[in-house]
Amino acid sequence: MKLKDKVAVITGGNSGIGLSIAQEFKAQGAKVAILGRNKVTLEAAAKSLGENTVTVQGDVTRISDLEQLYRETRAAFGKIDILVANAGIAKPMPFSEIDEAAFDETANINFKGTFFTVQRAVPHLNKGASIILVGSIAGQIGYPGMSVYSATKAAMRSLARSFSAELLPMGIRVNNLSPGPIKTPIFDKMGLSKEEVDAFGEQMKTQVPMARLGESHEMAKAALFLASSDSSYVAGIDLVADGGMSQI
Ligand code: NDP
Repeated sequence: MKLKDKVAVITGGNSGIGLSIAQEFKAQGAKVAILGRNKVTLEAAAKSLGENTVTVQGDVTRISDLEQLYRETRAAFGKIDILVANAGIAKPMPFSEIDEAAFDETANINFKGTFFTVQRAVPHLNKGASIILVGSIAGQIGYPGMSVYSATKAAMRSLARSFSAELLPMGIRVNNLSPGPIKTPIFDKMGLSKEEVDAFGEQMKTQVPMARLGESHEMAKAALFLASSDSSYVAGIDLVADGGMSQI
């Protein structure tokens, strides 16, 4: 029970990595609040998480939704100890074809959304709070079709440092988690056919020294380290969990 009586807010806690983090944190004794846009997956997530769960339907690009998330969490649980800024999208496209709307969609959710997710949380966070950003190894390596996505994820690595520098005097730690390729619904939302998604997954595997895709629950364990007092002397780092893909 590494998070007994802690309160954790997880954006994108209704799917994939965010849902696994919410499940792991609950198993470790936390109360959780999750934010997402999709009513159906939010309701399913709430059911699987059980009692002591707050669900807020909202969009990280809308500051009023973020403020509602924190207000509702405080109203239900009285405090916030952990924030996981996990919500994100990935829509591969050759950079020559990216128009302004496609650029803005990814930049607004992944970069601007994360920035304000953290900024608006700070007045609600306890001394000793832990903030976890979710970047990606795409922020470190060049991959075709991922230029905007990768740049937004490189920004997470930078924000973990800048936010730590400003928030450590308040006793708040900020770290970045960089997953490698993880089996989640994100691949089904890329606008690719099932065959293309399968081929993408197979091709990814060939690039991972561990020769497999990662699982969401493995990311949840990495997030648990950053969320708990096990990482009490850790701030501003990039915790890479990628089967060795970016390192070996
Ligand atoms: P999923 O698609 O399963 O989950 C993404 C989550 O983000 C969903 O819960 C989604 O909710 C939420 N979300 C997206 N846009 C918004 C928005 N505008 N406002 C609120 N919530 C939003 O993908 P993953 O679990 O794979 O991705 C989670 C994070 O991990 C992302 O930041 C992703 O970039 C990162 N990552 C994933 C990797 C992978 O291989 N899977 C690798 C590296 C990093 P809703 O559906 O309700 O909009």
